[in-house]
Amino acid sequence: MADTEKSSRMAADVRKEYEITGHTRFGGLLGSPVAHSISPQMHNYSFRKLGIDCVYLCFEVQPDRLGDTVRTFRELGAFGFNLTMPDKQYVLEYLDDLSPAARMIGAVNTVVNEEGRLIGHNTDGYGYMESMRQAGFDASGKEMTLLGAGGAASAIAVQAALDGVTKLHIANRKSRSWRHAEELVKTINENTSCHADLTDLSDLSALKEKIGSSYLLTNATSVGMKKGPGDSGGEDMTPVPDTSVFRPDLVVSDVIYNPRKTRLLREAETKGCRTFNGMYMLLYQGAEAFRLWTGKEMPADEVKARYFDR
Ligand code: NDP
Repeated sequence: MADTEKSSRMAADVRKEYEITGHTRFGGLLGSPVAHSISPQMHNYSFRKLGIDCVYLCFEVQPDRLGDTVRTFRELGAFGFNLTMPDKQYVLEYLDDLSPAARMIGAVNTVVNEEGRLIGHNTDGYGYMESMRQAGFDASGKEMTLLGAGGAASAIAVQAALDGVTKLHIANRKSRSWRHAEELVKTINENTSCHADLTDLSDLSALKEKIGSSYLLTNATSVGMKKGPGDSGGEDMTPVPDTSVFRPDLVVSDVIYNPRKTRLLREAETKGCRTFNGMYMLLYQGAEAFRLWTGKEMPADEVKARYFDR
């Protein structure tokens, strides 16, 4: 065997064993806190499985150090990185370009280093829509009611509009994110063929009407989380106190996955609705980031069985 052939075969064997070498590229998750994240397991398992010579690590980065860190990642040739809140918005000023979805959402969770140019994407909305498809539901060509206008809701709203939801009814309380909700509706109406409107979450009769014509009701507020921030926490809370809105042909979902079944999902199921939670949104946002970085499909079913369903 020729020396060059021998050495390239040895390099391939080494990669299969996942030895970090002088050629290994790095990337990871930037934010604070990050140590709890499941992303390193998801991505490193997939790199190993596909023989891709990369590693994914978590980096504790406070917002005031974000600019320097992004510059360093670019200079050191990182393949890319993910971001947690609030860095998803702060990072915008350090990037060279944005995907159409990230531009509309105004936030980035995935950055791809394209030969020194940093391109921002947002795969959170894709993650939600794919988790819905995997659960056997399809909202394209149909109406949807979305509760909330924060980070998760904005990403879902834009992706739903891009994926062919015809009418999107956003319901938010009239407080912190109301102005943002108005901007979100305007952006969707100006840039997609979806028609979006905004309702006050406390206007129960208007909400009932919107849900009444919807195929899908999605909670993207933090109401019902096990330990939610501010006044949103507690498993006994629900963003839809009027259970008469539930009907058997309504699909109900919650981006919350702790608890696995929120009060909203429990009450909807009691009335015969089919439901799904936010568990796999996390998996599929990661799978899409992996595809953007590597051009290859993450072995999502294996990752799901190994890290999500155990
Ligand atoms: P944000 O803080 O950005 O948004 C929270 C939203 O919930 C806002 O619209 C907020 O309204 C609303 N809200 C909060 N408290 C109440 C309340 N008491 N009554 C009515 N509305 C309320 O958070 P995120 O978008 O980042 O997260 C929202 C939820 O989504 C969380 O539970 C989070 O865990 C989950 N999530 C799940 C993901 C997954 O992969 N499954 C990914 C990301 C998030 P206002 O601004 O007026 O306070």
